[in-house]
Amino acid sequence: AEQTYDVVVIGAGGAGFSAAIEANQAGAQVVLLEKMPTVGGNTLISGGEMNAPNNWVQQKLGITDDTADLFYEDTLKGGDNLGTPEMVRILADHALESAEWLRDEVKVEFLPDHLFQFGGHSRKRALIPVGHTGAELITKLKTKTEERGVTIKTSMKADALITNDEGRVTGVEATDASGNKIIFHANMGVVMASGGFGSNIEMRKKYNPEMDEKYMSTDTPGTTGDGIVMAEALGAKLANMEYIQTYPVCNPETGVISLVADSRFDGAILINQEGERFVEELERRDVISKAILAQTGGYSYQLWNQTIADIGKTIEAHQDEYDMLVKQGLLYKADTLEEAAKFFDVDIDTLKATVKKVNQYASTGDDLDFHHRGGLVSLETGPYYIQKAVPSVHHTMGGLVIDEKTHVINEEGSIIPGLYAAGEVTGVIHGTNRLGGNAIADIFTFGRIAGQQVVAEN
Ligand code: ADP
Repeated sequence: AEQTYDVVVIGAGGAGFSAAIEANQAGAQVVLLEKMPTVGGNTLISGGEMNAPNNWVQQKLGITDDTADLFYEDTLKGGDNLGTPEMVRILADHALESAEWLRDEVKVEFLPDHLFQFGGHSRKRALIPVGHTGAELITKLKTKTEERGVTIKTSMKADALITNDEGRVTGVEATDASGNKIIFHANMGVVMASGGFGSNIEMRKKYNPEMDEKYMSTDTPGTTGDGIVMAEALGAKLANMEYIQTYPVCNPETGVISLVADSRFDGAILINQEGERFVEELERRDVISKAILAQTGGYSYQLWNQTIADIGKTIEAHQDEYDMLVKQGLLYKADTLEEAAKFFDVDIDTLKATVKKVNQYASTGDDLDFHHRGGLVSLETGPYYIQKAVPSVHHTMGGLVIDEKTHVINEEGSIIPGLYAAGEVTGVIHGTNRLGGNAIADIFTFGRIAGQQVVAEN
């Protein structure tokens, strides 16, 4: 079977949805192909937090000294300067606009008075969608997309890009749930928004042998790097493929990211089996992950008390996850430190000494051991929460090389006509290490540009 649209978008995560909406608003007939039975990708299961410098919640909270320049510097530095500066510049300059677009056009609701400061950021600047997950983003994007008459085809896997004699991308070969081949012709172009490759162990090992079976992944099963392979077949250039990020605090049995453990951003500490802190809790994800793997057993415990729990309310926001962790014996609520230590057989005397220091540092505002950049919070009073966690593969920084207009670039350095890409499938923004809250800012900023650009060039 054959079908014809102006624009074909591959992958219904945040990048694909925003590209589809923009292309549609610019007047194109758009189809959005998603290989899984449901839309959302990793965007859906993420925490959904989005960095935007100088945003409206910062203003409300009295944070008046954040700028696009600071965000630019944090992002470049966070990736050890391997992100492409011109691309990071675009991200920094447009992240706020992307957030406003989500708020005003897509009707995404963000918490009015709470922000996260993820590791590597010099300011608290991450907006939090209600419910603290990407579900708020994807639900609203899906509604908007359907309202506008974009065709969404789920269980429709893109297999290959089709090119004409001049090497221009003119369509996509796909397979539906029953195994039928379908050709989607694209009059204007194709936007690749198929996400990363964290769930593809073979591909991980190909680019970084260290990232083998010993790591589980936080990603959805659809995150297998298809778009990278499809574009590579046309000579696309890849960058930063060896940089694969682990998220430091995940479920030791399933690899699933822990969002309850977002209490870390409100002051929860990390300790080892011996009861000692071993890293600054707001360090970069790669640094914390490495530090955890170097501890006894290669895991960590996150410890916090009710005071901290009440700040971000991560338990209420993620009650299902909390109940599951308790049932699995991976999280324990205790009235006293003794009880918390006993549950996981942590050395109580060392833990008490650790907590005593934390309380001192909380009162002086100076963490002499690890220089906690958010300022430690006193753990003087219970009840306490203690949770076991391990690092798990979370984000692949590498991928397709795109230019400022999201054109996909080939090995010779020229544009592959008719092909655009945005989101985790691309590899030029985050360098060695993507900072928390930067994926969401990235996918909406460049997803929108891709959708606008594919129509503008026709
Ligand atoms: P991003 O954050 O870049 O938007 P996501 O992981 O949120 O990435 O979304 C990517 C989506 O692309 C996922 O829903 C995934 O299932 C889908 N996808 C991956 N490969 C294909 C493919 N070959 N055909 C269609 N959809 C795909």
